[in-house]
Amino acid sequence: MKRLDPLVKAYGRRFKREYAEFFKEIGKHDRIIVFRHIKPDFDALGTQMGLVEFLKANFPEKEIHYVGDDHVTFCPRIFPNAERLGEEAFEKPFMAVIVDVGDHSRIADPRYTKADYVFKFDHHPFNAEVAKCSVLDRSAAAASEIVADCLLHFPHTTIGKEAAKYLYIGIVGDSGRFMYSSTTPHTFAVASALINTGIDINAIYQNMYQKKIEDLKVTAYVLSNFKVSPHGVAYYLLPQDIQDKFEITSERGKENVNVFSNIEGINAWCSITEDPNPKDYCWRVSIRSKKADISGIANKWGGGGHAQASGARIDDIKDLDRFIKDLDDLFA
Ligand code: AMP
Repeated sequence: MKRLDPLVKAYGRRFKREYAEFFKEIGKHDRIIVFRHIKPDFDALGTQMGLVEFLKANFPEKEIHYVGDDHVTFCPRIFPNAERLGEEAFEKPFMAVIVDVGDHSRIADPRYTKADYVFKFDHHPFNAEVAKCSVLDRSAAAASEIVADCLLHFPHTTIGKEAAKYLYIGIVGDSGRFMYSSTTPHTFAVASALINTGIDINAIYQNMYQKKIEDLKVTAYVLSNFKVSPHGVAYYLLPQDIQDKFEITSERGKENVNVFSNIEGINAWCSITEDPNPKDYCWRVSIRSKKADISGIANKWGGGGHAQASGARIDDIKDLDRFIKDLDDLFA
């Protein structure tokens, strides 16, 4: 029997049936493909790669794959680029494991539907079920927290350093370095078990938050051009011409959003970056908040997410003032 922290044990009791089904199905399938959400972040990538490394280390006889679109700076610096699997990989029988995403439209590769069995781990709001069995905990700080808990319970296996590193990155990323209110004693219990594998957390933080000198120029632009609404919503816009000037994409533009995180009088903050993709033109919004739940506003504006970290979109920039007012009203 594994020695587990009481909080981890209690969490496992809550999902006893789902964990048992997951262990049984992993045992039954020789081929497993792990899926993540589009526009992946630390948690999507960390959960996926943590699970992949765990399965590869503990079940070397199985074929394990991972798919999705890559992150412009995290891949391949922190996570390997995803595999580019051809159609034939999805014609043979396989089990799909979907992590950190609940909606069909946000799963980065729709071919999970070809699996003969689908399992899901998630902490996003529930819409339509995409899996045969799910572990869904909306209150978890990160999908990595849930998956790490499940793997700690997996009989006759161990979480190695490589898997632990990725899962730890996922937890740190989605808990805002253990600062969001979604962080609980259970989050720390799982993080502690991962650190106990011997991972080098200093090296992990250095790699996660590494920037280039040129990135500071974008930060300087943001700090010179942001606005603040009457009740403390800070926001900055990065139109296409500015992104071109700094040679960044809209995905990279949001990386400055947290420069407003500890400023007195600022309750919520957003990056608003133009995405010129002709198939899906919009301004992509990343919203963060100190305390208030901003996920409802994100939902209203074509997105979703969590209480203190959500994503949304503005299709026509003429609606910017309406969007900011919606957020501002939360603090009126
Ligand atoms: P972002 O600002 O893109 O980093 O997103 C912050 C958080 O909100 C992440 O956990 C995303 O997974 C989540 N999120 C972003 N967009 C959506 C969406 N359209 N639906 C559900 N969750 C989202």
